[in-house]
Amino acid sequence: MTQAKAYCVEHSKTITLDEAHELYFAQPPGDRKRFKFQCGDSLCRAQARPTVIAALYDRLTPAEGGETKYRSPYFQRHRDHEHVVGCTWREQGESEGPADSVPEYKP
Ligand SMILES: [Zn+2]
Repeated sequence: MTQAKAYCVEHSKTITLDEAHELYFAQPPGDRKRFKFQCGDSLCRAQARPTVIAALYDRLTPAEGGETKYRSPYFQRHRDHEHVVGCTWREQGESEGPADSVPEYKP
């Protein structure tokens, strides 16, 4: 499950990747800084403050003059930052459970 929003530390609010993109390019050219992001779940953030990764939002889209090989930005959990039980970010990732051991159903 892809996360649509995350908490931006610099702006003290939960924002989308589109908003991150806009805010990034709203900074003065030559002095643009990537933002820090934490889990978008307020309960999780209050307890664990997990850092999350926001990727590719600092690239221009082809319409804005960026590369044609444009890839959509995305949020991703950080492997070293655990989320609290019940946080939707916990469902992401590969090694979160014995998915391999689930028996296949064969009629
Ligand atoms: Zn979380």
